Amino acid sequence: MNKIIFPGSFDPITNGHVDLIKRASIIFDEITIVVIDCSKKKTLINNSERVQLIEQVIESENLKGVSVDTTKMMISKYCRENNNYLILRGLRNTSDLSFEHNMNMHNVILEPKIETICLLAKQENFHISSSAVREIYFFNGTVDHLVPKQVANKLKELNETL
Ligand code: ADP
Repeated sequence: MNKIIFPGSFDPITNGHVDLIKRASIIFDEITIVVIDCSKKKTLINNSERVQLIEQVIESENLKGVSVDTTKMMISKYCRENNNYLILRGLRNTSDLSFEHNMNMHNVILEPKIETICLLAKQENFHISSSAVREIYFFNGTVDHLVPKQVANKLKELNETL
């Protein structure tokens, strides 16, 4: 049984993430999406709601072998505690590559068993990032074409409570 973790902030989960998860689920038997709960970072959507949204997306997309977890731990420690040393990441461009290269160096120093597996983003998702979604949302633009419908609905709900 080959298993991998997909760590990130997922603030919020986007169509780019979902595509990556779908493609990885063809290769791996088990994918655990790990939502990093970093209390120092101010997020648009709180941690438990980010987890809930991912659960809803997994269900509506009928993604088999995909689950979600959350942690406050550093990823190298999470890998050790869960005996799962494969990390999935996505590459949209050379900036992502430099970032992942650097991150992998840190991870491997902390936990030499870690291997990072990167999948290249699909061309139609190159421009999609959680930060772009947040930026467009803050300026009241529509993000419906960038995120799963559950996220789009959540953002509309948040907007109404502002
Ligand atoms: P971070 O951990 O930097 O906040 P995210 O949570 O947004 O990053 O993303 C987690 C992973 O998903 C990263 O490896 C990122 O490169 C990847 N990713 C983000 N957006 C896309 C996309 N549109 N297509 C493919 N991979 C993506």
